[in-house]
Amino acid sequence: MQQPSVGRIVHYVSHGTPPRSDGTQAFQSECRAAIITEVGENDTVGLCVLNPTGQFFHSLAAGGCHHQENEQAGGSWHWPERV
Ligand SMILES: [Zn+2]
Repeated sequence: MQQPSVGRIVHYVSHGTPPRSDGTQAFQSECRAAIITEVGENDTVGLCVLNPTGQFFHSLAAGGCHHQENEQAGGSWHWPERV
């Protein structure tokens, strides 16, 4: 099991927009590249998220991001999938 550490690159799962009445979404949840900036307890980390058009920072002080390897819910992080 890999341990998160400052400077590692992981995936952050972006939040999709709410589903419309027909089930489609304007923006779907997607994996974004992110750099770990802080490591907290239970694999909660601070991230600098690299979106195609800008960066977002999620600090531990603001709650950080939780590790979710399989479900990949919006707002969580995971190790990059092997391709
Ligand atoms: Zn991913």
